[in-house]
Amino acid sequence: MPSPAKAYAAQAADTPFAPFSLKRRDVGPDDVAIDILYCGVCHSDLHTARSEWGGTLYPCVPGHEIVGRVTAVGADVTKFKVGDIAGVGCMVDSCGACPSCHAGEEQYCEGSGFVGTYNGPDHHLGGHTFGGYSDHIVVKQDFVLSIGHDEKDLAAVAPLLCAGITTYSPLHHWKVGPGQKVGVVGLGGLGHMGVKIAAAMGTEVYVFSTSPGKREDAKRLGATDLIVSKDEDAMAAHRGSFDFILNTVAASHDLNAYLKLLKRDGAMTLVGVPDSPHAPLEVGNLVMRRRTLAGSLIGGIRETQEMLDFCRDHAITSDIEMIAVQDIDAAYDRMARSDVKYRFVIDMATLGEAA
Ligand code: NAP
Ligand code: ZN
Repeated sequence: MPSPAKAYAAQAADTPFAPFSLKRRDVGPDDVAIDILYCGVCHSDLHTARSEWGGTLYPCVPGHEIVGRVTAVGADVTKFKVGDIAGVGCMVDSCGACPSCHAGEEQYCEGSGFVGTYNGPDHHLGGHTFGGYSDHIVVKQDFVLSIGHDEKDLAAVAPLLCAGITTYSPLHHWKVGPGQKVGVVGLGGLGHMGVKIAAAMGTEVYVFSTSPGKREDAKRLGATDLIVSKDEDAMAAHRGSFDFILNTVAASHDLNAYLKLLKRDGAMTLVGVPDSPHAPLEVGNLVMRRRTLAGSLIGGIRETQEMLDFCRDHAITSDIEMIAVQDIDAAYDRMARSDVKYRFVIDMATLGEAA
């Protein structure tokens, strides 16, 4: 019997969130049921709830930075037991048979495509999937992560499930390391995790920001300095010097200004997904120094576990502002203004007061 779950949903792109009741499937042989303790608030939640990318299915229950406690496991579950702390990120399933799935890169599944934790096809109950702004969730064990951090830090661990892996994966894939100069564009949820992780990987990190007031925070997070991206002289001083730039900006902007800062053979990887195109590329910025412009999507499950273990070993968590679920619309408005220090996390206990 599917179980009723309390949740918070957007019923349309332009209406506030409100209490909503949904159903979670019965716990199957490979499934893990999790009572959600905390859920991070990603800018992708905002893009989706407000249908900025189009294609949003309503009612929309976002949330893909989930940490909670296991309450039930199916007969074939070997990796988790009742009482464990577990995490769920951006995916809850994939085809399991295509080359990307075989390579452990389920986010690039070219079979049926990965199933998003929200706004994806629900192959069990029909309709679409509902995410972490809810009291519990049932997920196939292969898409559940083990959390090794201290239990007192769990709220600050939740954002690792998206912001952490989305920044760790490209830094890892492009093999950044000691002796390299790395830039992180945009100091928000993803950006601040990118700074912490790139610094822990032994690189020299600079933040590019539209917010001069974030300079001291950038340094505290592990950056050498913050470069105000609108300051042309400050930008010019770094021309041709970066090995790698991770661009997390959630709005369209001019990429050329950053490509010029890369060394020969340097790369800039885009993880921000604005709802409108960037300014046109000047091809010379790529060809003259054999530079690369790339993109990257979250990370596979194996790599997500590796990132969680890396963050545990380096004592890395997210800098968070805890909110009640009732505050979600105001939190979105602040996030849209780049006013978040540096990730909102919903204390899901507040859901009990909502219905
Ligand atoms: P966020 O917390 O809102 O941070 C984005 C930052 O971008 C802001 O804090 C701001 O930093 C900067 N920014 C915002 N508007 C800007 C503008 N007009 N011009 C220049 N900079 C601007 O968002 P997030 O949760 O980190 O997500 C960032 C983007 O990544 C979103 O588009 C999201 O959908 C996407 N995302 C992608 C993946 C993936 O797998 N590729 C995964 C998760 C999220 P400053 O104040 O420092 O300028
Ligand atoms: Zn996300």
